[in-house]
Amino acid sequence: MEKADTIVLMAIHPIVIYGEPVLHQRAEKITDFDEELATLIADMHETLDASNGVGLAAPQIGVGKRIFVFNAEDEEAGVRRRGTFINPLLIASKVPDTRPDPDEETEGCLSVPSLDFPLKRADRVTVNGLDETGQSVSLTAEGWFARIMQHEYDHLQGTLYVDRLDKRWSKKWKKEQSANGYNVPGQSWTPGIDPDPFGH
Ligand SMILES: [Zn+2]
Repeated sequence: MEKADTIVLMAIHPIVIYGEPVLHQRAEKITDFDEELATLIADMHETLDASNGVGLAAPQIGVGKRIFVFNAEDEEAGVRRRGTFINPLLIASKVPDTRPDPDEETEGCLSVPSLDFPLKRADRVTVNGLDETGQSVSLTAEGWFARIMQHEYDHLQGTLYVDRLDKRWSKKWKKEQSANGYNVPGQSWTPGIDPDPFGH
């Protein structure tokens, strides 16, 4: 039997967990806007939807490339935003030097399953980057959506939100990290197959 020239199959990918090296390295710039990139981005959207998350960065499916996708309500703007950023640059307002509010400022990550911690973030960001076709895109956001942008951009720098926690919450995270075994490579969970770790 002959192999087909191009096989385009969308797929849900396993999401790697804290401790996997690709999550802790700076991701590489995209240079080729080809079929392979289009498939990767389609897969990322499908994986994000299946995970019930609001954002997903390529390193989270084990691909060290500068791409993230999002699908979330921008409450300040009153619209739902679904999109892709490639090679993004992020400009953020100053992060307030106050304690995070556990009711209003708690964050979670698909690569740190079942946990969440309060974290202070900048209130306003502008993201400039490219979309899947290589066209320039720019987005300015405030509040919760600005938080999502900062969280996903961090992934491309090899930083996870738990790496940014203040002293008090960092202590709690370290405890949970050993209790959950989130400090060794090789762990993952698959949306739609494994139970939703955040109970969605
Ligand atoms: Zn994350």
